[in-house]
Amino acid sequence: MSQRPEQEKELAILKSAVENTNEGFVTIDADHRVLFFNKAAERIFGYRREEVIGRDLDRIMAPSCSRNHRLAVRRYVETRIPSRIGHDTEITATRKNGEPFPANISFSVSEVKGKLYFTGIIKDLTETRSLEAQVSRAERLAALGQLVSEITHEIKNPLMVIGGFAEQLIRRASDEEIREKLLIISKEVGRLEQLLKELREFYTPGRPAKESVDLADLAREVTLLLGDACTRQGVQVTVSADEPLRVRGDRHKLKQVLLNVIKNAIEAMPEGGALAVYGLRSGDRVRVSVADTGTGIAPEDLSRVFFPFFTTKREGTGLGLTISKGIVEDHEGGSLELRPREGGGTVCEIELAADPLSLETPKSEQESKQQGARDGAC
Ligand code: ADP
Ligand code: MG
Repeated sequence: MSQRPEQEKELAILKSAVENTNEGFVTIDADHRVLFFNKAAERIFGYRREEVIGRDLDRIMAPSCSRNHRLAVRRYVETRIPSRIGHDTEITATRKNGEPFPANISFSVSEVKGKLYFTGIIKDLTETRSLEAQVSRAERLAALGQLVSEITHEIKNPLMVIGGFAEQLIRRASDEEIREKLLIISKEVGRLEQLLKELREFYTPGRPAKESVDLADLAREVTLLLGDACTRQGVQVTVSADEPLRVRGDRHKLKQVLLNVIKNAIEAMPEGGALAVYGLRSGDRVRVSVADTGTGIAPEDLSRVFFPFFTTKREGTGLGLTISKGIVEDHEGGSLELRPREGGGTVCEIELAADPLSLETPKSEQESKQQGARDGAC
């Protein structure tokens, strides 16, 4: 008699343990009807227990799974020979909203007062699988990065020699046809060198440094660098920015981003146009926009421009935007987006968290430091 409260206590402990574990517990009877459906099962499958208890297990199973399961239960009831019981099985289960997910199920059977009850213990493997995929992707990328780095290293030196000799010969060549061919060699070598640089950057990105960088300064520096290209193409450039536009980041890499997007803008205006680079600080964020009046991006290409190797240019590598987006996103609060410009052309918007130290300077002091909008044309 004194065992009864003890047993009740044990039962309560067991029930609460099963109720609160991370694994889904689903118990059915020999007629395939659900008797028990714990909290984790509700979370994993997306059904509330009132929706399934007393119903056929079919309700939460895909029809093909359900048929096999029903057969296995019937076979066990008739033969008592376990086929799946005691084993772990990996399956693709389905949530209430129709989403399939990888799961591990182990089955157990209990006989109570001559009746059979089957319990499936379900582990949702979605997160495990996604972590595994991330690790294997990181490993693949590291291996690929190593390979790319070795190959680009091997190609770089002979390419430099070819380019160097071509330059020397161009200076000496008196025959116009030979000179033209040498110029082509030199240009193609330059293009290959750029591709190698971008491939290295894409596959072996490295951590960004954390220094205080003024994006307004950087934008002016880059537009000056591209001045000749602008003049040749009849592109009018204006740079206007509140100063300072300080962020914490990698000066070299951020300069590369501005170079890439400003070059894209110039390349989109082969017949000339206007390039406006404007920066502003809003609260604790800094935004630099690069707007051009160029060809614009076809709507069907807008989602593809960030894919590696996507290019619409005969001599493009299709890596500039992928690398740039990666660099910006590696920075605190960084985002890089492209959108159509009203009136034609494209706007590239780069947003980053402002350097917290620069935010400590009182606004009035910053304003007195501002020299207004600065325009520069090249
Ligand atoms: P690439 O410049 O080598 O083609 P990117 O990754 O820099 O590679 O750009 C990918 C593609 O995105 C370009 O080929 C072009 O089609 C499109 N694109 C990027 N920026 C612009 C822009 N400012 N105007 C029009 N198209 C653009
Ligand atoms: Mg580009």
